[in-house]
Amino acid sequence: MKLLLPYLKLYRRHSFRLTLGVVLAIAALLASIGLLTLSGWFLAAASLAGFAGLYSFNYMLPAAGVRGAAITRTAARYFERLVSHDATFRVLQHLRVTIFAYLLPLTPGRLSRFQQGDLLNRLVADVDTLDHLYLRVISPMVGAFCVVLVVMVGLSWLDVQLAMTLGIILLATLIALPPLFYRLGYAGGAALTRQRSEYRSLLMRWLQGMAELRIYGAEPDYRHKLNGLEQQWQTAQQRQAGLSAWSQGALILISGLTVTLMLWLSAAGVGDLIKPGALIALFVFCSLAAFEALAPVATAFQHLGQVIASAGRVTEITTQRPAVSFDGDRQQAVSEVSLALEQVSFSYENSSFPALQDISLRLHAGEKLALIGRTGSGKSSLLQLLTRAWDPQQGEITLNGCPLASWQESALRRMTTVVSQRVHLFSATLRENLLLAASEASDQQLVAALQQVGLEKLQDNQEGLNAWLGEGGRQLSGGERRRLGIARALLHDGALWLLDEPTEGLDAHTEQQILSLLRQVTRDKSVIMVTHRLQGIEHMDRIGVMDGGRLVELGSHQELIAKRGRYSDFQQRYAL
Ligand code: ATP
Ligand code: MG
Repeated sequence: MKLLLPYLKLYRRHSFRLTLGVVLAIAALLASIGLLTLSGWFLAAASLAGFAGLYSFNYMLPAAGVRGAAITRTAARYFERLVSHDATFRVLQHLRVTIFAYLLPLTPGRLSRFQQGDLLNRLVADVDTLDHLYLRVISPMVGAFCVVLVVMVGLSWLDVQLAMTLGIILLATLIALPPLFYRLGYAGGAALTRQRSEYRSLLMRWLQGMAELRIYGAEPDYRHKLNGLEQQWQTAQQRQAGLSAWSQGALILISGLTVTLMLWLSAAGVGDLIKPGALIALFVFCSLAAFEALAPVATAFQHLGQVIASAGRVTEITTQRPAVSFDGDRQQAVSEVSLALEQVSFSYENSSFPALQDISLRLHAGEKLALIGRTGSGKSSLLQLLTRAWDPQQGEITLNGCPLASWQESALRRMTTVVSQRVHLFSATLRENLLLAASEASDQQLVAALQQVGLEKLQDNQEGLNAWLGEGGRQLSGGERRRLGIARALLHDGALWLLDEPTEGLDAHTEQQILSLLRQVTRDKSVIMVTHRLQGIEHMDRIGVMDGGRLVELGSHQELIAKRGRYSDFQQRYAL
């Protein structure tokens, strides 16, 4: 239950609308009870009065009361739905924005522990489930308590004993049933939340990996697992629905017994009247109507398990601390960038070995450094530290003499141009995919960048830059995606270029073209280029060789060749 506290606090901001919703709900419930009680009494009294009472019995006043109650009930119900749903949507909107604000700084470091489908499920389905808290728990509970009190006080004008008997039965039901069904439904509700998430995550993985699963013939096994999970989820839903039926059944049974009891007790006399006549109907209908107000309460608590499980899952996101926080305020525009790494060591979370160890390195303004090394030696990790996707656990990185952390995020982004190892393309148009690197760029500039990387054919059709790139850029080949990444870099044009295997997947001729283009556009920039290819590497000012997270060699092409170490080995073995 403690898990719900932070979400209850969110209600404070919308307290007026939420309270108004509860007040209207109470008004609708009371009008409903008034309607049934009054009309029951009215019909009974009218039939008892019969023709003889045609002139003595006052038909007009109760009839007007019945109509008034009916109109009030309809109007109150309408406005209650309007106000309470509006308030809940506002709370949900506030909640989603709050969660997003927590979520953004967590990327990429802390989010890697959540599967994509699961994260989406937390953001959408779990947040949606939290609206039960007000609509299905708080509002009906408060409403039911108020109704019980009003019924007790109202009926005690006629007969205190009868009113107390009915009130105590109602209160006892209200106090006993919700905790009972909360306990019975808790485990099932929590399991439902978990199974829903597992099913959706698995479904998403199945759809995304369909091509691979088919190739290896693993698709039927996967589908079998999916079907099994769906079956479990359905069984859990059926169990919850069965429990709802039991709670409704219990309420109907208590209601039936109470009505019979009231019939029996009121028949023996109401207040001073030994022959109460139509007042018997009044008590009976009032009891029936009061139990109607209690109807949503038992099931509400049964769903509380689901709400608590969802709250827990959302809290898991909001309690994560970002791996990196951008609190720096340095923001001057720079045209030259120098870097220094002093004994930098870094390990990924949950990793048993360090990805980088004791790296010390200086990159002067305008210098070009190539990083080579075996796969997994830490080259991309080093670039990720420079973009502050992560911060090192030891050592310090400075940019133009100031700690990297002292720079404002926007300033850092402006001055660094990155071509990452896996270029991500959005399911959007070609224009949108390019504009994210330079939002102000004109169409001419976009086309020029495409021409420079040899991708002008992408916009050489009817749609031009509006050409749709398909889901995650799937319509493009690996080499085209990479060149689009380079086109983005050309548009962004920062003072520091971090290139992670920019020519990977390109044929030798295109590679030559791209390398000479990069040399030309980065003439006065600082560059760190990770590469597996030795093609054109002698043009770089210095070359660093990485192995097992360490920088094992650093120097110019000539120096390293003369040294006859790893680099000269590489050259002898792989140079074309
Ligand atoms: P490649 O040439 O294959 O791109 P690399 O030199 O760029 O390799 P990195 O990607 O820096 O290598 O990885 C260095 C080590 O850190 C590897 O052992 C890798 O498994 C590990 N690693 C990389 N990314 C993560 C991550 N997000 N979480 C945990 N470990 C990681
Ligand atoms: Mg890499």
